[in-house]
Amino acid sequence: MAGKPGFWWSLMTQKCPHCRKGSMFTDPNPWHLKTMLKMPARCPECSQLFELEVGFWYGTAYVSYALTVLFSAISFVLWLLTIGFSLSDHRFYWWLGINGVLLLVLQPWFMRLSRALYLYFFVSYSEDYKNEAPKTFDYKSEDYFLREEGDKPKV
Ligand SMILES: [Zn+2]
Repeated sequence: MAGKPGFWWSLMTQKCPHCRKGSMFTDPNPWHLKTMLKMPARCPECSQLFELEVGFWYGTAYVSYALTVLFSAISFVLWLLTIGFSLSDHRFYWWLGINGVLLLVLQPWFMRLSRALYLYFFVSYSEDYKNEAPKTFDYKSEDYFLREEGDKPKV
């Protein structure tokens, strides 16, 4: 089949893990802070349920933490290789400050990325997603969730 969307690209652009076509987030711009975590209940393309169980997204705090640590480690190494560190000037503090600002600015995107990464961990891609049922958690989860929410997007 032609045009299979790549894993990394789909992850970075936060597409649904099941079809890699539908967007996981309603607002394409993560820096609209009021809507940055607004998601449809289901993928608009393949109707994969996003919040697999109540409180599903709590686990993303750990993912988000790991991502920021990883980001800082990478920026530290890049700084070391290009600008370098020295005990006789303030280059280390410059890195600390710039890295902090970057983390702050990228935070909305990190939050989305950690949700995507978390969901990608549980839901695998299906090339034949049109004929294949989306992934659910086994124990009555879907009914449980939808009865409560009325199948409306969670705000
Ligand atoms: Zn989908």
